[in-house]
Amino acid sequence: MQEVRDLAIVLRSIPFEERHRIVTALTEHHGLVSAMARNAVQSRRFGGALEPFAASEWHFVQKPNAELVRLEQAHIRRSFEGFRGNFDRLALASLLNEIVLRVAPSIENSGDLFRVHSNALAWLEEGTGIEIALLNGYIGKILQWSGNQPLLASCMECQRPLGELPPEAALVGMVADAGWICPNCRSQGTRHVRERQGQSFEHSVLKISALVIADFYTSLGTPIRQVPQLARASKEEHIELFRFLQGLLAYHLPSFEPSTLKSLRFLAL
Ligand SMILES: [Zn+2]
Repeated sequence: MQEVRDLAIVLRSIPFEERHRIVTALTEHHGLVSAMARNAVQSRRFGGALEPFAASEWHFVQKPNAELVRLEQAHIRRSFEGFRGNFDRLALASLLNEIVLRVAPSIENSGDLFRVHSNALAWLEEGTGIEIALLNGYIGKILQWSGNQPLLASCMECQRPLGELPPEAALVGMVADAGWICPNCRSQGTRHVRERQGQSFEHSVLKISALVIADFYTSLGTPIRQVPQLARASKEEHIELFRFLQGLLAYHLPSFEPSTLKSLRFLAL
């Protein structure tokens, strides 16, 4: 059995039979990995490397067909402790961990996801700007990777470009179609409304401003650490965008049910 080395960020760490821990991490090259860390509780061999958010170099052994790898060593690179004293940022970091726990297995290129996740944690330590803009940008990256990137550049009905609308224009976000329609089409056309009769209509459309859609559109092509400082819409507008993104996640990633995210209740959203 060969020892494997990889960079890992701890997403979840739970005690097992008093002395051991089962640690699940996002790794740079192996996606999501769950490891048995034997005698982790008493011995200090792992230091703080098994704490949630800790980024370490893991040495582990993988047996064929085994669910858990055996963690041999973990050398801490960055503990990401800087946001632990800030309740909002800690809650948000926990939410990012919860989100990535659900989507990582389906994402093959874990290197990109690993970088986004570690850069998001780095921003939570030292960044300035609106936290929820970081969360929205993060979800945007997840939607991109899962092949569910929303269509944001123009109105779904009349193809009017986003840039032609005033920033304060109230757009209607269409969850099932992963796009939006402009105020004009909303008042004139009822195609979308008619087609969705019988479905839970109130969950399929949500009002969002043109400015926050522009923020979101920008964030898809921006490194995650720069997303909050480039955001121009208000916190309230970003909360509205988050509701729309929750709908997109629930509708387009069937394994993903946002209402079951425990950390959400700690955020004022
Ligand atoms: Zn339109």
